[in-house]
Amino acid sequence: MSQPQNRLTERYSQLQTRLRHAEQRSSRPSGSVQLLAVSKTIPAEIVRYAAQLGQLAFGENYQQEAIDKQACLSDLNLCWHFIGPLQSNKSRAVAEKFDWLQSLDRLKLAQRLSDQRPKHMAPLNVCLQVNISGEQSKSGVTPDELSRLATAVTELPGLTLRGLMALPAPCDNVDQQRRVFASVRKLYQGLIDEGHQLDTLSMGMSGDLEAAVAEGATIVRIGRALFGARDNP
Ligand SMILES: *Cc1c(COP(=O)(O)O)cnc(C)c1O
Repeated sequence: MSQPQNRLTERYSQLQTRLRHAEQRSSRPSGSVQLLAVSKTIPAEIVRYAAQLGQLAFGENYQQEAIDKQACLSDLNLCWHFIGPLQSNKSRAVAEKFDWLQSLDRLKLAQRLSDQRPKHMAPLNVCLQVNISGEQSKSGVTPDELSRLATAVTELPGLTLRGLMALPAPCDNVDQQRRVFASVRKLYQGLIDEGHQLDTLSMGMSGDLEAAVAEGATIVRIGRALFGARDNP
């Protein structure tokens, strides 16, 4: 095995251990939290190594980079999640090439994606990105707009609403991390109580996955803890 392969194998196994411990400590079934490998800026050959280790779900932030990578890896049966901000005029590639969009935050974009989703494909799975206080970016729907957007998205034939995604500002304090994730879980539960059939709560990254798992995350999105530090593009 090459050196990059060795390093990835080691990090992958450490990350699996970390995730299983987090599940155990929160009395959650082993394997109940799905690992999404965030492969932004990571070359296709490294993604291929990860796939050889059994990691089949990948998250990408930049549309052109993702499409190029998908083309190199089209012989593999991978599941692709778009997790970055998406401009409306770039929606078509996501509608045609991805299995999931986790960063949906407005109706106009949802309508375009639904229209652009090819009829022979299953509907695009979507999470609404919720902008809880302390969020770095301006993307995300505010909690008071969430219910209305969820209802509207449910009516679009090309999309399947699966749940919520949150991207809190980084913070070192575990209690604070948990408070923020708990508020996202409450919003998620609120939508379920309104009758939405949801199964996905995407929250937690390399620095805060334990807190997210403790508060009910079903997907954690991990970049650095798996692939190592990124150079910013
Ligand atoms: C980059 C990114 C991640 C992964 O962050 P790490 O700190 O590298 O684990 C997760 N979610 C989103 C939306 C990202 O942009």
